[in-house]
Amino acid sequence: MNREALLKLTDKYQSPLYVYDTEKIISQYKKITTAFSKVKSLKINYAAKALSNINILKVFNSLKSGLDTVSIQEVKLGLLAGFAPENIIYTPNGVSLQEIEEVAKLGIQINIDNLSILELFGQKHPKIPVCIRINPHIMAGGNSKISVGHIDSKFGISIHQVPHIKRVVENTGMHINGVHMHTGSDILDIDTFLRASEILFNTAKEFKNIDFIDFGSGFKVPYKNDDISTNIEELGKKLTQRFNNFCKEYGKDVTLMFEPGKFLVSEAGYFLAKVNVIKQTTSTVFAGIDSGLNHLIRPMFYNSYHHIENISNPKGRERFYSIVGYICESDTFGSNRRINEISEEDILCFHNAGAYCYSMSSNYNSRYRPAEVMIYKGKDYLIRQRETFDDILKNQVEISL
Ligand SMILES: *Cc1c(COP(=O)(O)O)cnc(C)c1O
Repeated sequence: MNREALLKLTDKYQSPLYVYDTEKIISQYKKITTAFSKVKSLKINYAAKALSNINILKVFNSLKSGLDTVSIQEVKLGLLAGFAPENIIYTPNGVSLQEIEEVAKLGIQINIDNLSILELFGQKHPKIPVCIRINPHIMAGGNSKISVGHIDSKFGISIHQVPHIKRVVENTGMHINGVHMHTGSDILDIDTFLRASEILFNTAKEFKNIDFIDFGSGFKVPYKNDDISTNIEELGKKLTQRFNNFCKEYGKDVTLMFEPGKFLVSEAGYFLAKVNVIKQTTSTVFAGIDSGLNHLIRPMFYNSYHHIENISNPKGRERFYSIVGYICESDTFGSNRRINEISEEDILCFHNAGAYCYSMSSNYNSRYRPAEVMIYKGKDYLIRQRETFDDILKNQVEISL
């Protein structure tokens, strides 16, 4: 989106503000479906946790996307947004048997990621088909907070435990209708991904009547200019060929599934914040904005890079700044950034603010969460109001002392 349009929106809706460009979401979705167009049966399930505003979910439903959910609350949001239960998959981790049963009752595809729950579920509900989440023990990316396929990861059932899974299936008579993996958030290397896929194909062959193979996600998008992103065309070519061969060997056209979050929404999002204060110290110049880790925690939590731009002064002289928040913590968004000269009240724009930004926000320091705006078919819509003091008090129960 261009600078003027973003400034206008900040004028209209105030700051801090999240803006989502649905055109970008749609083009990212089409990139995947195009790359895998030679697969007979393809299903993309958008990972709701990346950005879970109900209107964003509706956009995905209109694209005929499915939905990947990790909690019963996300399932309910999906149903509310109009997804048919059969288009929702539920891939929780560490949740109770009760929650899994509740979701299954809604007609949602269950994906189980540990043996003990699989056994309990299979004994109680042998007629409900279940997908199993496998941990192939393949390391993807270097950040352990977002890498979930390695040996010590809490996610998935170890590939070495497939014999145990088979015994549970035999003993309970349950039906495994899908196999799944999600190796981590950054696939930089397609060959690593393909190696993990081989493990998944081998696992699938262990079961008689699979309907789908879910390759999870891990599609990387660029956050910096020189960042490498997942080469989706190459992945599409190589995996399609391998997948189609698998279907032949298996004797059935199973569905190929993916569940991307970041790839679909990251670049569609912009976060706009106003500069409250410029502070010169002995070592740097700080620009303090009307936001903090309560609104966008990725830089502090994952050490992620978000490109920051001064859209109020695009022609200004470039200087070096540390961009910080107003929270009583060291909430640094970026150190030593070269940005066009910043003055108080300028609007800074954070890029890649679609995925895991609003959805990870909080009320820390009793601050309000920002408003969200969606651009749809050229028009801007307020899709979430800025919070008010009532929201801060909403669930507090005041007793008289
Ligand atoms: C978070 C998550 C995803 C989405 O990951 P991205 O990196 O945003 O694409 C997919 N599948 C599962 C099971 C997840 O937990």
